[in-house]
Amino acid sequence: CKTVTVAGGGLAGSEAAWQLAERGVRVRLCEMRPLKMTPAHETPMLGELVCSNSLGGEKLTTPAGILKAELKRMDSLIMRCAEASRVPAGNALAVDREVFARLIDDSIASHPNIELVREELTEIPEEPAIIATGPLTSASMAQSLAALTGEDFLYFYDAVAPIVDVSTVDMSKAFRANRYGMEGDYINCPMNEEEYNLFWNELVNAETAPRHDFEEEQMRHFDGCLPVEVIAKRGEKTLLFGPLRPVGFEAFNDGKEPCAVVQLRQDNGEGSLFNIVGFQTNLKWGEQERVFRLIPALREAEFVRKGVMHRNLFVCAPKVLDPYLRFNGREALFIAGQASGVEGYMESTAMGLAAALFAYLQVSGLPMADFPLETAVGSLLNYLRGALPESFQPMNVNLGIFPRLPGKKIRRRTERCEAYAARSLEALEKFIGENKILFPNKQL
Ligand code: FAD
Repeated sequence: CKTVTVAGGGLAGSEAAWQLAERGVRVRLCEMRPLKMTPAHETPMLGELVCSNSLGGEKLTTPAGILKAELKRMDSLIMRCAEASRVPAGNALAVDREVFARLIDDSIASHPNIELVREELTEIPEEPAIIATGPLTSASMAQSLAALTGEDFLYFYDAVAPIVDVSTVDMSKAFRANRYGMEGDYINCPMNEEEYNLFWNELVNAETAPRHDFEEEQMRHFDGCLPVEVIAKRGEKTLLFGPLRPVGFEAFNDGKEPCAVVQLRQDNGEGSLFNIVGFQTNLKWGEQERVFRLIPALREAEFVRKGVMHRNLFVCAPKVLDPYLRFNGREALFIAGQASGVEGYMESTAMGLAAALFAYLQVSGLPMADFPLETAVGSLLNYLRGALPESFQPMNVNLGIFPRLPGKKIRRRTERCEAYAARSLEALEKFIGENKILFPNKQL
């Protein structure tokens, strides 16, 4: 069986290498640290967490908890190490970051099937290979990726507007129409003067997230788009000539222009998620919900993805990847982790695990297997292939990407989540049972 090269020993690369090695595949894991550091990593340890030490919710009452339960069931290395290094954090799984990274490091370094090489890969390695070089991929590898995907389909920054679950938008306070049209694709959320003034005031005074120095430096050269709060700070009326422009909606407001209109645009193929147009933001996550819920139609909205603006390399997955995390037209060249188009520690890990299973099937000469859509892993993969390429943005796990549950909507979010969890774990069990070849060493 061929050796698989894994580029990058972060969360996804370590998970992928270990999963393959556990299945008897030989792996060459190339990690550039400490010879070359990223702007955010501080140690040579594999699986170093670059920011928070929380891996998010653990209970089945949250989508993050569903993902963790699935990863645990598939014997994820990262989950093992997280549980063994846990620190108290309520309902979340938080870790002692040093112990966590050391456990990952030891598991990889001591694995007889893994050769750990400390070097920067500057070119796409020979197949079979998994690229898991993360959001801060080194410049030369980024160049090689751009050559592979085409420059238009590799992104270096996230400037994401928040995304809401459309079923939670109050349509009695919104209307569907394109500007100057009586109907259309956009959901428009009007505000009267009093509502707008309150919104503006809270927006300009809201707390923003701290930026890393390297991001400050690079964002200055990023002329893509300004954060909504920065536009707002230029003057009380500036937004009304920008993203909140009210013209073209007179027909919905007794023939007069409304004071302000926030537009929502469809964000996924199924039409279950909508982003807030022009609302890329650097506000702290809690502040986003507080301020954006002042828009009357969004008072009860569920924000499935908060806005972020940071350095982040990722491919336009729906354009350049096949359903098995392979670059189009390449038999055994996979991508994993944040660079594949997901967002978050555990989502990156999940794409590491999935890429390893697909690579295992490929090097074993077996047909690919499809993760059930009902699972969090399957839903993330489905998002990568089904999202709209024009507005593609990395996604974290949330109920909006799962197929809807049949029947009447369960009102309480925690109960709804538990129902999704039960369905997901049942589907995963069935998948494991039907694909024993993929899980050869596991107690099933
Ligand atoms: P990484 O964990 O970054 O691993 C990639 C590895 O590849 C690194 O070890 C790097 O040194 C190596 N590498 C890069 N280029 C090469 C090369 N050419 N050759 C060999 N090795 C290479 N998510 C959260 O859930 N919570 C957070 O708090 C959070 N904070 C973040 C803060 C920042 C500044 C950034 C950039 C992202 C953050 N994320 C966070 C998003 C994301 O979940 C993490 O970045 C996560 O670590 C991604 O996992 P990964 O395996 O894809 O990449």
